[in-house]
Amino acid sequence: MTTSTRQTPTNSTRAKTRSASRRRISPGRRQYLKFKAKHADSLLLFRMGDFYECFDEDAHTLSKLLDVALTARDIGGGQKSPLAGIPYHSLDTHIGRLVASGLKIAIAEQTTTEPNADGIVDRAVVRIVTPGTVLDQSLLEQSKHNYLAACVVEGHRAGLSWLEASTGEFAAMEIPAANVIDHLERLQPAEILVDTDSKTLLDDITTPPSFPRTREPREERRQDFPSLGDTVIRSLDESILDPELAADSLKKHFGTDNLEPFELNGHPLATIAAASAIDFLAQTQIGRLPFITTLRRHRPDRYMYIPAAALRDLEILTPTIDGGPTLLSTLDTTRTPMGARLLRDWLSAPLTDLDELNTRQLAVNTLVHSATLRSSLDQTLTNTPDLARLVNRLTLGQSEPRELRALFRGLDKAPTLRELTTNQSEAKSISPLFEGVASHDEVRELIDRAIVEDPPFRVSDGGMIKPDFDHDLDKLRSTASRARAGIASIEAKARETSGIPNLKVGHNRVFGYYIEVSRSHLEKVPPEFQRRQTLVNAERFITPELKDLENQVLRAGDQISDLEQSIYRRVCQQVAEHAAAIMRTSAAIANIDVCLALARIAAENDWTMPFLDNGDLLKIDDGRHPVVEDVLGSGRFVPNDIDASNSENQLLIITGPNMSGKSTYIRQAAILVILAQIGSFVPAKFARVGIVDRIFTRIGVSDDIAGGRSTFMVEMVETAGILNQATSRSLAILDEIGRGTSTYDGLAIARSVAEFIHNSPALGCKTLFATHYHEMTELGDTLPRAKNLRVAVAEEGDSIQFLYRIVQGGADRSYGIHVAQLAGMPAPVVERARELLTQLEAHTNNTAPVDTPTDHLQLDLFNTPNNTEFLHSITQIDTDNLTPIEALNRLYELKESATKELEN
Ligand code: ADP
Repeated sequence: MTTSTRQTPTNSTRAKTRSASRRRISPGRRQYLKFKAKHADSLLLFRMGDFYECFDEDAHTLSKLLDVALTARDIGGGQKSPLAGIPYHSLDTHIGRLVASGLKIAIAEQTTTEPNADGIVDRAVVRIVTPGTVLDQSLLEQSKHNYLAACVVEGHRAGLSWLEASTGEFAAMEIPAANVIDHLERLQPAEILVDTDSKTLLDDITTPPSFPRTREPREERRQDFPSLGDTVIRSLDESILDPELAADSLKKHFGTDNLEPFELNGHPLATIAAASAIDFLAQTQIGRLPFITTLRRHRPDRYMYIPAAALRDLEILTPTIDGGPTLLSTLDTTRTPMGARLLRDWLSAPLTDLDELNTRQLAVNTLVHSATLRSSLDQTLTNTPDLARLVNRLTLGQSEPRELRALFRGLDKAPTLRELTTNQSEAKSISPLFEGVASHDEVRELIDRAIVEDPPFRVSDGGMIKPDFDHDLDKLRSTASRARAGIASIEAKARETSGIPNLKVGHNRVFGYYIEVSRSHLEKVPPEFQRRQTLVNAERFITPELKDLENQVLRAGDQISDLEQSIYRRVCQQVAEHAAAIMRTSAAIANIDVCLALARIAAENDWTMPFLDNGDLLKIDDGRHPVVEDVLGSGRFVPNDIDASNSENQLLIITGPNMSGKSTYIRQAAILVILAQIGSFVPAKFARVGIVDRIFTRIGVSDDIAGGRSTFMVEMVETAGILNQATSRSLAILDEIGRGTSTYDGLAIARSVAEFIHNSPALGCKTLFATHYHEMTELGDTLPRAKNLRVAVAEEGDSIQFLYRIVQGGADRSYGIHVAQLAGMPAPVVERARELLTQLEAHTNNTAPVDTPTDHLQLDLFNTPNNTEFLHSITQIDTDNLTPIEALNRLYELKESATKELEN
């Protein structure tokens, strides 16, 4: 907790001052109010000497947020205002928490040291910090992007833009409004600017009505906003909602006549979103924009579409269980922050373009086949700092000396990297992805000559400029050191002339240099000594000579400090002129780093390069799930084949007991496709992948309690999404559809979903359907493009062993009791269950129709002869136009009539 020693006003002082308040306020207060009026929506941190102070309402907020003392301060006219503050040096410590509150934080600095005519120093708001626009290294997670997004919705369309102030990345796109959430979840922005319509959209989908907007600290919001985590949502400036104005704003920023270079013509919503984001950024940086030199139109058709649910279900970026492994964590052995961020980008947006994929594959392939190159690159890349973020801070004039030196360390690797990635005989880069690494001789030489090896944290600390870099600085430094040497020699001289053996020269902040004489020798003090301070056992003196030398030291010190700062700024500016080239190097390093990580895992685990084409086959021999395999340890994962195609094996129905490996198998299919489409090798002996445009999943039973939706409802909404959006080039992974409800409902839904996917001409996507309803295997026998697969189980008497091997054919029993036994259920419970099962089976066999295809417990709804009416009522359901609530109600009705029917 930060405390200050100020006093709280008493009631009497408040009463006394009220009447005078209207007459006059202090110039300082006037200045504050002027700033506050301009930044009314921000928490204003007002620099006053060694403190950043907050007044009025802001003081209460600051005190609450940081748990600092709330006091009061005279503001003229005998009035007092609430006051809370933090010491200036602790700003870095507190800024994270302040920003996380969702508030904008405006920082007003003192810009002069001498008071002006009003008796106050000049001040200026130098920057506004918000979660999506922070540039402070300490507030940014190295391996993650920190996006500011802007979203505008008009009817069914939406414009979405995202930019990263710290790296200069800037992109925009126009998409169906329904897909906004998926993209936001992929991007995980720190802050989203929304217009009224998109705000409603976000509210509808993600939050209960009481979602607090921006005032509460982050922790309190987290649970209310499950899918977008910590994101702060802010209304955007509605004045820019006109496409013309937005286009003008972008043109002005980029200094272009039109938006042709950014392919934004004809995309008004993307234009508005982009302009909103860049304008907001410009406001927060008070006119000094980070190094954003281009805007990329994100073309959704060039990327595989992975809905947010699939990204989560497949555990691509985030684990379902905290701390669990993800595909990202399994692949990520990147050595640089830029590489780590790029790998995340590749994984969340795999490609659909064969040419681009070939380029990536070849780059990875080259590295897979050269262990020596891999190890040299590895060594070189290790400890490379975040060039992209360093150079962005540099262009904004925010770099501290250590950052400049870090930039040097990073750039110092460039020549080696360039050499390593260049084919010596042809003298060109071994992959177009690795081009762009320049050697940066000039910049490196400049930084190395100017900045000391171990520089101070802050520019204001001084001492960062090397000797021999600037003649004037050297001269001033030698003046100062001569004067200091002079002071040091005074001690010896004075001891000799006065005969006081323990006389010493010292220094403190109040009196400066002094000569100290102990009480016992006071009578020997020469007349030119002037007394300054009396201590218990000694007296302190100055002499004209000492004072003169001290003045020389001080004067030189001030001059040195000013000069060093101006040299430092000059050096920074010179380096910043190379920003574009450094960014290119940084991007190429990221590519090298990611390809290297992919090559490393491929080479070490015997992965293969998949054949990619625009066909419709998905054929994998001996495929493995990379994450499960990694967890199990080497050699323990049982490989499996996948053979799917649109024309023959379109619908693979995988049956088998719980825990036998069904989910792993179907997820594996999706994961291998994603790996193939980021340009990676895949864990298999052979792989042929026809490019997939979308991956859908419906996996597991996850309750969206915060969103107030039942398990079953979530399941139905997600399944409906798949049925509505999949194309013949998509891949759908369906796991235990229907599990979230009673057996009859579940089976009914599972079967009708599978039939729909198989029969609908518009759909026809390859589908892997895992289910423990062995009744589903009937489909494999009746539908032409459906095929039954099952997980092999070895039976030995009463016990079973899962082999994790997928084989042809359907399972004919569920092995539920065996699974219970395997799970460690007490023996009497297992025994009793066996007894009950036998009884139930006998009962079912007596009442079930003769043609029931299995002699075990059957829940064969569809083959029961007396339920035509019931079936008819199912066919009458208008699934295309049913709202989720109506669907649920219909199901309850169906369930009720099914139950009645059974009871009869
Ligand atoms: P199901 O979906 O049938 O309930 P899972 O796919 O969840 O089963 O698999 C259960 C466990 O079995 C996994 O956590 C994993 O440890 C193990 N497993 C799955 N597939 C394999 C495999 N191919 N080889 C080895 N172990 C496997």
